Amino acid sequence: MADKKIPYKIYLEENEMPKAWYNMRADMKNKPAPLVNPGTGQPLKKEELAPIFCEELVDQELDNDTAFVDIPEEIRGFYKMYRPSPLVRAYCLEEKLQTPAKIYYKFEGNNTSGSHKLNSAIAQAYYAKKQGLKGVTTETGAGQWGTALSMACSYFDLDCKVYMVKVSYEQKPFRREVMRTYGASVVPSPSETTDIGKKILAEHPGTTGSLGCAISEAVEVATKNPGYRYVLGSVLNQVLLHQSVIGLETKTALEKYDIHPDMIIGCAGGGSNLGGLIAPFMGEKLRGEADYRIIAVEPASCPSFTRGKFAYDFCDTGMICPLAKMYTLGSSFIPSANHAGGLRFHGMSTTLSQLYHDGFMEAVSVEQTEVFEAAEQFARVEGILPAPESSHAIRVAINEALKCKETGEEKTIVFGLTGTGYFDLVAYEKYNNGEMGDVIPTDEQIAESLAKLPQI
Ligand SMILES: *Cc1c(COP(=O)(O)O)cnc(C)c1O
Repeated sequence: MADKKIPYKIYLEENEMPKAWYNMRADMKNKPAPLVNPGTGQPLKKEELAPIFCEELVDQELDNDTAFVDIPEEIRGFYKMYRPSPLVRAYCLEEKLQTPAKIYYKFEGNNTSGSHKLNSAIAQAYYAKKQGLKGVTTETGAGQWGTALSMACSYFDLDCKVYMVKVSYEQKPFRREVMRTYGASVVPSPSETTDIGKKILAEHPGTTGSLGCAISEAVEVATKNPGYRYVLGSVLNQVLLHQSVIGLETKTALEKYDIHPDMIIGCAGGGSNLGGLIAPFMGEKLRGEADYRIIAVEPASCPSFTRGKFAYDFCDTGMICPLAKMYTLGSSFIPSANHAGGLRFHGMSTTLSQLYHDGFMEAVSVEQTEVFEAAEQFARVEGILPAPESSHAIRVAINEALKCKETGEEKTIVFGLTGTGYFDLVAYEKYNNGEMGDVIPTDEQIAESLAKLPQI
């Protein structure tokens, strides 16, 4: 089908948007290990999760068997505001690299929150509303998730309380103001509004906060206020399920033009965009119907897949959340101040961890300066200013395309471009000024935090 002209942007029709999300777990022989109660050491039951999370989301979290979950019409209605998202043929990048490879990227930055996180935020807000809740609480670090959730909550008229790591609250006033414009209340964490916040402030006056601490505050507020639940923007199975809309659209678009990808590449923080992008392709791979190289890209400063251990660990630094079996650097691991804020999580989705463990996907880590080099190269020819997180995938897509140049192979590469970088210009400034460095943890540092893994 080489003669079939492929447009620069492949847009689907509205009615080609998926009507059901796809749950990869249904096709996995080895299911991801269950979340465990740190107190009892037993798998968490629905009743234990229900006071924290919305009911229907708990069902989705625990469901390893249902392959397709209908997307409610209200959610599809919202999706239509910014979906289907385009699958772009990177003709200009190919030309610049002089590669025989064919490069495509699925662009998820076409909405005000600027990332794929809105795909799950709207689903989680919908189920909270359906349950008759007043509102939801969450934490945000860099701010992408908080922004997406505040947009979703304003759509369904839900109260939204965001605990934002204090250092980001002060240094990233713009995202904070977007959230407030959508009606969310944004509290710098640690705060005086919770017991745990007061305790932390008493012990560490002047602290600039951490994600772990913000999670603890958001969970406390959700469990102490009737009509509130806690929501999370990555890592969980339910989030990967909602994000499958990315992969399903990608697959439909590729099939429309008879394109067969050889490799699928995505950045991995908690694993939600990658899990969503690869979902239907991994399904085929798991069922033995097709084969693809699937590559997770993580920062060398926070290399959970490539240098972590597959073990039960806490999902938060505060050690209050459930234990998950995943590739982890240890919940006490503190990544260096890496600008790709959205990739600074010590662990990884349990589903992706199991798939990686079973050899269904590969992982590589890349350093920050080479990531920004790729981001700049991409921006200059493709126009889009990419998020630093997304640029990890760009780096590896370029590397693979350059390998094709050497071997002469016409491979087809698909990667996920998860968002835009307009709120990351301080990082771009550092790069442009030549002030950006690469910080890679030593084996001793990783061993030290892994030594503190819970014994289970
Ligand atoms: C949050 C975020 C990521 C990483 O999160 P995953 O759950 O691993 O997808 C990647 N890119 C952008 C733009 C993000 O906002």
